[in-house]
Amino acid sequence: MKQYLKHYINGAWVESTGQNTIEVLNPATEKTIGLISAGTEEDLNKAVAAARRAFPSFSETTREERIALLERIVTAYEQRKADIIDAVTEELGCPRSRSEQVHYNMGLVHFKQAAESLKDFTFEEKRENSTIVKDSIGVSGLITPWNFPTNQTSIKIAGALAAGSPMVLKPASMTPYTAMILAEIFDTAGVPKGVFNLVNGSGKTIGNAISSHPDIDLVSFTGSTAVGEQIMKRAATTIKKITLELGGKSPLIVLDDADVQEASDIAVSNIMNNTGQVCTAATRVLVPRQMKASFEKELLNALPNYPVGDPQNDVFTGPLIAEKIWDRVQYYIQKGIDEGANLLTGGLGKPDGLETGFYVKPTIFTDVQNDMTIAQEEIFGPVMSVIYYDSLEEAIKIANDTTYGLAGYVVGKDEATLSHVARSIRAGRIHVNRGKSDYSAPFGGFKHSGIGREWGDYGIEEYLEPKTIVGLE
Ligand code: NAP
Ligand code: MG
Repeated sequence: MKQYLKHYINGAWVESTGQNTIEVLNPATEKTIGLISAGTEEDLNKAVAAARRAFPSFSETTREERIALLERIVTAYEQRKADIIDAVTEELGCPRSRSEQVHYNMGLVHFKQAAESLKDFTFEEKRENSTIVKDSIGVSGLITPWNFPTNQTSIKIAGALAAGSPMVLKPASMTPYTAMILAEIFDTAGVPKGVFNLVNGSGKTIGNAISSHPDIDLVSFTGSTAVGEQIMKRAATTIKKITLELGGKSPLIVLDDADVQEASDIAVSNIMNNTGQVCTAATRVLVPRQMKASFEKELLNALPNYPVGDPQNDVFTGPLIAEKIWDRVQYYIQKGIDEGANLLTGGLGKPDGLETGFYVKPTIFTDVQNDMTIAQEEIFGPVMSVIYYDSLEEAIKIANDTTYGLAGYVVGKDEATLSHVARSIRAGRIHVNRGKSDYSAPFGGFKHSGIGREWGDYGIEEYLEPKTIVGLE
C-alpha cells in the first residue's frame, strides 16, 4: 500500500491539517493501491501563501534561468522513467507499453517544448509610441483530470514555470501518484521553494477553494464541461483569468476517395486509445453512405488489432478508470440501443474473461442519427457512433452540429477537399489523415470545449499579462 499522505508545500512534504483520506484504486484489479490525504482549505491556504511569497523573486527570474530550470526538470523526469510508467499503469489501468509510449512521453515533451518556446518568446516589443511588456500573471491554480495524469499536469506546470508564475496544483484524486512523482522531480531539479505546490483532495473542497481564492490570479482547469462551468462561475467573483480545457464530441469525416481499410483503422485506433477516455476522441465517424458495407466490414477486421486486457500484458486497451465511469458507459450503450442505433459490435457487460476490473466491450454503433444522445453527449469510453452521409456539405453540417469544438479529423486523398473540410470544422485541432501531433502548436477548444489555449508559446501566453507603457523613449 502506498502511504503518500503529505502535501507538497513551500518546498517540503507536509502533514495535512485534516484527518480524512481518499482511497486510490487500481482499476484493473479493483483493489486499493493506497491512500492520499483529503486536503483542507487550510492546507490550500498555506500553499497559496507559499506561492504568493515566491512570486516577487520567481517572476523576476530571467528567461535563461527558466530555460535552465525546465532543462533540469527534463533530466530529472527522465531519471524517473520506470516510476512514472509504473504509476500510470497502476492508477490509470493503462497498458504498460502505452504508459510508456503515450503517457511518459507526453509528460516529458511539454517541458522540452516550453524550454524551446521560451528561447524566442517575445516578452517585450516596441510599437509606435508604446513599449509592451508581458508580466507573470501572479499565482496560478491548476486543476487536472485523471485521463492523462502526466500530460495534463505537465502542460500547465510547464507553461506556468516558463511564464514565471508560482502555482498550486490539485491533481485528480483518482490518479494522484503520478503527480506526486512530478513533485519529487521538481524537488530534485531545484524548483525554488514555493514555486510549485501540490495539495491533494476532492474537487469539491480543494477545487472549489482554488476557483474562488482571492489570492489566486488564474485558474487553469482541464476536465468536464459541467465542472468547467462551475469553476467559471466561482472564478467570476474575484475576476480571475481562466483557461478551460473541456469535453468534446469530435467528428471524423471519411471522404469518398479514402482508402476504406486505412480510414477504418484510423477510426478504431482512435476510439481504443486510452480506453476511449480521451477528450479529443473521434467519437462520431461520418462515412459516405455508399461506403457502408465495406466500412463496416473493415471496422470489424480492425478491432482485433487493438486488444483489450490486463494492463500488465501486451494489450492496447485496459479497463476504464472507475466503476462510476463504467456505469456511465453502460448507460450510454443502453441509450444507443433504446434510441434505435444499430449495434454492430460490443454492447452491455464485460468482455469474456475480464470480469474483475472495469473493462468494457469496445462498442460500435452504426446508422446513428446525429440528434441521438450517443452522438451529442460525451461518453468517455470506447464507443463509436457511425453516421452515414449523402453529400460533403451534409457531412460538414453534421460535424459542426454539436455544442463541442475540441477536435476534428478528416481522412481521404484529394488535397483541396482535405483542406476545405479541415477549415470548415469549427474546432481547435484538426488532424488530416495520420498527421502527427505538433507540440509547438496551440491546443484548446471552440464553443463549449473551452476557453484559452495550451502547449508551446500559446501555453506560456496564458500565464502572462500584457502591460503597455506609453511615452518611454
Ligand atoms: P472532472 O470530473 O471535471 O474533474 C476534473 C478535475 O476537477 C478533477 O481534479 C476533479 O477533482 C476536479 N473537480 C471536480 N469538481 C470540481 C469543482 N466543483 N470545482 C473544481 N474542481 C473540481 O473531469 P474528469 O472526469 O476527471 O475528466 C474527464 C473530462 O475531462 C472529460 O469531459 C474530458 O473531455 C475532459 N478533458 C478535457 C481535456 C482537454 O484538454 N480539453 C483533456 C482531458 C480531459 P476530483 O475528481 O479529484 O474530485
Ligand atoms: Mg469556448
